[in-house]
Parts: sequence; C-alpha cells; structure tokens
Amino acid sequence: MSEQQVVTRIAPSPTGYMHIGTARTALFNWLYARGRGGKFLLRIEDTDRERSTPEATEAILRGMEWLGLDYDGEAVSQFARVDRHAEVAHALLAAGKAYKCFASQDEIQAFREAARAEGKSTLYRSPWRDADPASHPDAPYVVRIKAPLDGETVIRDQVQGDVTIRNSELDDMILLRSDGTPTYMLAVVVDDHDMGVTHVIRGDDHLNNAARQMLIYAGMGWPLPVYAHIPLIFGPDGKKLSKRHGATGVAEYQQMGYPAAGMRNYLARLGWSHGDDEFFTDAQAMEWFDLPGIGRSPARFDFKKLENLCGQHIAAGDDAALLHELEAFIAATGENALTGEQRDGMSRGMYCLKERAKTFPELLEKAHFILTKRPIDRDEKADKALDSVSRGILSELTPQLQNASWDRESLEGLVAAVAEAHDTKLGKLAGPLRAALAGRAVSPSVFDMMLVLGRDETIARLTDIGA
Ligand code: GLU
Repeated sequence: MSEQQVVTRIAPSPTGYMHIGTARTALFNWLYARGRGGKFLLRIEDTDRERSTPEATEAILRGMEWLGLDYDGEAVSQFARVDRHAEVAHALLAAGKAYKCFASQDEIQAFREAARAEGKSTLYRSPWRDADPASHPDAPYVVRIKAPLDGETVIRDQVQGDVTIRNSELDDMILLRSDGTPTYMLAVVVDDHDMGVTHVIRGDDHLNNAARQMLIYAGMGWPLPVYAHIPLIFGPDGKKLSKRHGATGVAEYQQMGYPAAGMRNYLARLGWSHGDDEFFTDAQAMEWFDLPGIGRSPARFDFKKLENLCGQHIAAGDDAALLHELEAFIAATGENALTGEQRDGMSRGMYCLKERAKTFPELLEKAHFILTKRPIDRDEKADKALDSVSRGILSELTPQLQNASWDRESLEGLVAAVAEAHDTKLGKLAGPLRAALAGRAVSPSVFDMMLVLGRDETIARLTDIGA
C-alpha cells in the first residue's frame, strides 16, 4: 500500500487576536506536513457568529503571513459549510447512530436536579434515545449522537500516549441545535474528514473533545486521524502564559521587531526538541520535526532565549532578505519607508548591522549613521568624546583620507599611524571618530562605518566637526 499523504491543519477560532500558542500549533502542523511532502491547511472556525469577527480572521491571516507559514489552497470558512454539517447529522440519524431529542430545557434541568439529589451522574440521559419515531411529537428537536453507555474509549495520542476514557462519562452530545445549526463538535469532525486531514495536532485543552469527536468518526465509519495533543505554553513561573508574563499576541512580536525565522526557531523549540539543537534552519526543523519529540509537560516561555535565537538568525540572515524583512517591519509599525538613498546605504551596511542585533529596532539603532543626514546630531556622550585634543588629531587624519585606498586594512593602518604619531592608541581615536561619523555610541565599528559611508561622506562628516 502506498503511504498516505500527510494532511495537517490549523483551525483557529477568529474571536480575538492571534495568540502565540496558536502560532506554535500552526508551526508544528506546518513543519510536520512540509517535512513529509504533505499538505498544511487553514480553517477558520467561524461558526460561532456572536464571537467571530472579520478583524480576528484578518489578524490570523496576517500572523500566518508574517511567520511565513504558508498553507495550501484557500483558507476554509467553517461557517460556509453548515449545510454539509447538517447533512452529516442527518446521515447519522438515518443510520440510527443519532436520534432526535425533544426534551425541553426545563426537562433537562429537572433531570439534572433529580440526579444531583440522588447523588448520581448529572450527564443528561435523554428518554428519546430509544423512542419509537412514531411517538415523535411535531415539535422542535435537537439531534444527539448515540454514545456507547459502557466500555471504554481509548485515544491513541502521539504525545499523551493511550488515554482511556470511560464511556459512561460521555453524554449523548448535541450535533444539531433546535434551530438546525451544527455544534462545534460536529463541524470540526466533518471538516477534518472532508478536508482529508490525517493528523490532528492541537492544544491538549482539546483532549477530552477527541473522545467525543471519535464517536462521530465511528458513527460515519470514517477513518480516525492521528491525534497529537500538545501541552499548552506556560510563563517562566510555570503558570499558563498570560499578559502578565509579557506579550501573548503574535502581532505584538511582529511589532517588537523579532525576525520571523527566529520566531519559528524559538516556537519550534517551545515544547519540542531534537537532541541539544537550539539554533536551526527551517529546512533542518522540517527534516527533524516529529511527534515523539514533543514533551508531555508544558513548555515555559523564555524571553531571553527567544532574543538570543533571534539575534543568531539576524546574524546568519541573507543581507537582501533581511533588508526586505526590515522594510516590512517598518511598514507594519507605520513608520516612514526608507528613501532610495537610505535603502542603498542599508544594503551596503547590512553585513555589519546584522551582527549583535536581536531585533529590527536594535538593527535600526545601529543603522542610525546611515539613516541620518549631515550635519550629524550628536548626543551628549558623543559631544564629550570630541574634545579639542581629539579634534586636533582627527584634523590630521582627514586630509590623509583623501588619497587613502578605501579598504579596511589601509584605513586601519592610517588611523593607527596617526594615533601613534600622537602617542596614543587606535582605541582612543575610536570614540571621537564614532562621534563624528554617527553622533552616538551605538554603531558598528568605525572602519565599517567608513567603508559603508564611503570616502566623500566620511570626509564631509569629519570636516563638519572642524577636523
Ligand atoms: N477552533 C479550536 C480552537 O481555536 C481548535 C479546534 C481544533 O484544533 O480541533 O481552539
């Protein structure tokens, strides 16, 4: 038999912003499918009309795009499929796997109170389960699944192991409400089946749902997907990740200027591991990602580690790709786009800007010397560095730059020689030079700045300070 193609999906409910946990679940599904030549699908679970908003859907689409989690085909709207959901409920009815229940809310309430008084399970047991259809009234009804009354259901979970649920704990859940609309439980199963989903990788808050959803698969005679319920993300203190710990929204991380590759790397490591590997590429993650590598205990969000990995990804990034992503970051934050001149400068300087920048704002700060224009504004520290002694020394350097060959070695040699002639060290001249070229302390090395700025601009900036 040929291997079945892997199909995974992310199925977020568009009821708010996109949570970082949703991003991680999406990433796991993406890695699993992409590493196996499979498909990764997106379904927007917008069946709850009260809580779903177009803005939340938009936030999910933007978040996926920013993180580079491309999905196959169009995003599926669950709400658009309600007729199909109802059709399956009716098929289950016709097959005797589900039944019409005419109980009113009051009757259900009375059942529960009586059960409580008798110390029995309050799971609702409908008298309509085995009723003769001839006895059905002409009244509104819900469609309920016929759950087994005894025995056990075992979820063969790839992360949690075999999870056994006693069937006596499963009620005859509702599939269709009295207004004919499908419940979430029904919609998820029908959609996963119709979309050909082979692997359901999702948060372990859905583990109990799996046992109930399996009843629908069984009722329809559909093959079960492979389940992998992943532990939720906790904060550094071991409590469920919340705003208290820091940002929880994907968009916030984008706004803070983390590179998408670093986010993917970090989120992949959040609850999954491959030996001791911390820093890796997408290609490696796709090759390595598997379900047994997912831990059973909640992962703790570690902001320092995120920053560290992001710094490594910026440093290792392709210059042109980094500039492209940086410009997208600038656009996302609503700042002015780079001018052509600034863009050229950034392009020339990216090789040194990307060293030791953990975020795009940090990279932009280092790039100040490129983005600014003459005359250079100097901060207080830079002003101090430019005392009369150093201005004097620099004024000897400036004319010599006119004929110097413009490469690192020659420039270093020249500055060292001037320093030596004044009985000082090259390092002592770095501060004043930095002050003249960048006007502040955060910048690449002075030689990198000279190389990026070029001869004319370097000399002009030195001349501006009277050197
Ligand atoms: N819509 C559900 C959620 O956002 C996910 C359902 C699923 O993955 O099966 O939590």
